[in-house]
Amino acid sequence: GAALELVDVTKSYPGQTSPAVDGLSLSVPAGEMVMFVGPSGCGKTTSLKMINRLIEPTSGQLLLDGDDITTKDPTTLRRSIGYVIQGGGLMPHMTVAENVGLVPKLLNWDRGRIVSRVDELLDLVGLDPRIYRDRHPRELSGGQQQRVGVARGLAADPPVILMDEPFGAVDPITRQRLQDELMSIQDELQKTIVCVTHDIDEAIKLGDRILILDEGARIAQYDTPERILAA
Ligand code: ADP
Ligand code: ADP
Repeated sequence: GAALELVDVTKSYPGQTSPAVDGLSLSVPAGEMVMFVGPSGCGKTTSLKMINRLIEPTSGQLLLDGDDITTKDPTTLRRSIGYVIQGGGLMPHMTVAENVGLVPKLLNWDRGRIVSRVDELLDLVGLDPRIYRDRHPRELSGGQQQRVGVARGLAADPPVILMDEPFGAVDPITRQRLQDELMSIQDELQKTIVCVTHDIDEAIKLGDRILILDEGARIAQYDTPERILAA
C-alpha cells in the first residue's frame, strides 16, 4: 500500500455558486480501506477524480507516499492508481481480456506478461479465463461485468485503488459475494483503497474508516466504523 494525502483541495466548476469540493483535507493510511459516504451531489466523485487527475483541482495539494502528484500526468499515475467504476465501465467493443489488459498495455508491458496477468486476475475475481477471456461485455451479466471492472482496476498492481459505487449496479446476492471478495483481496494484497458508496451498511462492512461528507465535501465525521456506530 501507499499513503494518500489531500491538503486543502478545492474544486470549483465554472458557473457554480459554491465549490463542489471546498477545502478537503484528508489522510488515508497505507493499506487501509476508506469509504466515502454522503448525499448525492456532495462532491464524492469529484474528490475521487481529482485523486487520479481525471479532474484538475482548482487549488490544494495531493500527495502519494509523500510525493506531490498534484500536477503529475494521468498516464503516469495509472501505474500507481487503479480505478473501478459502477457497472465496470468496460469498453463494449473490446473483449474481457482486452479490457483487463488495458492499463498494462498503456504501460507497454510485453504481450506474454499481459496474457498471464489477465488470466491470473480473472481467476482472482472468480471468472474462469478459459470461458470468459474472449467474451465481450454484452455477453456477461452485470455482476460479471463488475468483476471484470475490478480485475481491470487491479491489473497493473497499483498500490492505490479508487472505486466509485463499484457494486451499485449488481443484485444483492452478487453484491455480497463481490464485497467478500474485495475484503479478501484487500487483506491479501494490502492495497490502499478509497471507495465511494451511498450504502452506509456497505461502508460499515468494508471500511477500516468511514468518511461522512456534507455539501462541498466538508467532513462531518472521519472515524472507524466502531466509533461511528457508537456516536
Ligand atoms: P457526488 O459524487 O457526491 O454525487 P459530484 O462530485 O458528482 O457529487 O458532484 C458535486 C457537485 O458538483 C454537484 O453539485 C454537481 O452537480 C457538480 N458537478 C459535478 N460534475 C460537474 C461538471 N462536470 N460541471 C459542473 N458541475 C458539476
Ligand atoms: P474512456 O473515457 O473512453 O473510458 P479513458 O482513456 O478515460 O477512456 O479510460 C479508459 C479506462 O482506463 C477507464 O475506463 C478506466 O477504467 C481506466 N482509467 C482511466 N483513467 C485512469 C487512471 N487515472 N488511473 C487508472 N485507470 C484509469
